[in-house]
Amino acid sequence: MKKVAVIGTGYVGLVSGTCFAEIGHQVICCDIDRRKIDLLKSGIIPIYEPGLEEIVSSNTELGRLSFTDEIGAAIQASDIVFIAVGTPMSATGEADLTYVKAVAKTIGENLNSYKVVVTKSTVPVGTGRLVAQTVAENRPDSSVEFDVVSNPEFLREGTAIADCMNMERAVIGATSDKAAKIIAELHEPFNTTIYITNLESAEMIKYAANAFLATKISFINEIANLCERVGADVTEVAAGVGLDSRIGAKFLQAGIGYGGSCFPKDTEALKHIATQNNYEFKIIESVIDINHRQRLIMLDKIKEALGSVQGKHIAVLGLAFKPNTDDMRYAPSLDLIPALLEMGATVTAYDPVAIPEASKQLPAETEYGANVYDTLRGADACMILTEWNEIKEMDLTRARELLRAPIVVDGRNCFSLQEMEELGLAYYSVGRPVVRTPEHAVV
Ligand code: NAD
Repeated sequence: MKKVAVIGTGYVGLVSGTCFAEIGHQVICCDIDRRKIDLLKSGIIPIYEPGLEEIVSSNTELGRLSFTDEIGAAIQASDIVFIAVGTPMSATGEADLTYVKAVAKTIGENLNSYKVVVTKSTVPVGTGRLVAQTVAENRPDSSVEFDVVSNPEFLREGTAIADCMNMERAVIGATSDKAAKIIAELHEPFNTTIYITNLESAEMIKYAANAFLATKISFINEIANLCERVGADVTEVAAGVGLDSRIGAKFLQAGIGYGGSCFPKDTEALKHIATQNNYEFKIIESVIDINHRQRLIMLDKIKEALGSVQGKHIAVLGLAFKPNTDDMRYAPSLDLIPALLEMGATVTAYDPVAIPEASKQLPAETEYGANVYDTLRGADACMILTEWNEIKEMDLTRARELLRAPIVVDGRNCFSLQEMEELGLAYYSVGRPVVRTPEHAVV
């Protein structure tokens, strides 16, 4: 059993801290956001993550997991301190290290015994060294030793608990064998593959992994756009391509591109790291450009379907950047809904969990439906932006009856062309032929 402090109780810190408690460690999760800590202390989970509430509550009851905003005291009481604060995209595209630097300073100020300082946040190569320097400069007693480790996080929102408990690999970038051993032992109960490397390589592994996945998405989206021009169906192309074990079927779903708190900022940060090092990283530049263009393709599709969007009422289904999360960071809906409103449409939107967060960021004139069917009622077209099960499994016959015009523009390829054709719904999806209906006036 190890004594662990996790600083930053967001999607990553809360989940990983809770999972470390679940495998038997003594964990204190800390945050500067007092409101978040108060909610957690009263048993309320501030984010939507399936299964999290149950394991937070069981580990709190067992006394293995606690929450505090007294960060200094938590650091002093721990042998291992994780940095899990945000590293958002700055105006120039690089990772903003303000929070990481602030935490490193606090760790230094509270270094009362040997500790391993572990960066879990996604940070540019070189940050581990900066953390080490900051901790060293701020410690009250320079004879107190510490080590820094990079242990990037790979969990995915929506399946974060399972990703953490069945971790595929733990990457440990360390400057000392002692620290590498301590962090490897910490992970032992996860029965995962431990990959030990140096600080810089561990930091780069995280960016390389996310950039590669983003590249797969942009690549299949380019194939999708070409499929539309040559009469191929990208879902069948992706299935055929994915059968090749060298390629694999994952991350080959064509759609409106990636969003969320990681891929957009991490691809931009990697591009920035390359530029800073006088390297033109051509693939990543294209991946970013393609992803941006792919979102806007939805506007072309809705214009093609309706002729003009002016004065039309659009039902938008799905607001979060992906299903099973309330995370709205870089969600396509944040670009597309304002664009529809600017083009003179009215919008009623629905998401199973993200409306409270989305309504803080979307224009005030956006209206919200109570459920899928309430949202579709009387709309001139339906636009699908997130493939929640509730949306994929909607009763299409009922949907057709509720819509004023039977038009679906689907950015996530939720339905088969055949079923839409049989139901008489005009259907514009991504990388597949358009399904047109006789009564669909504008084609
Ligand atoms: P988040 O914004 O949800 O949480 C960050 C938390 O840190 C917030 O609660 C904030 O109040 C807190 N914080 C900021 N400054 C602090 C300070 N000085 N002291 C204590 N707490 C402080 O962010 P997140 O999504 O959990 O991401 C954290 C890091 O993990 C980022 O670098 C991100 O790129 C990386 N990451 C995220 C995911 C993901 O799916 N969200 C996956 C892998 C890696």
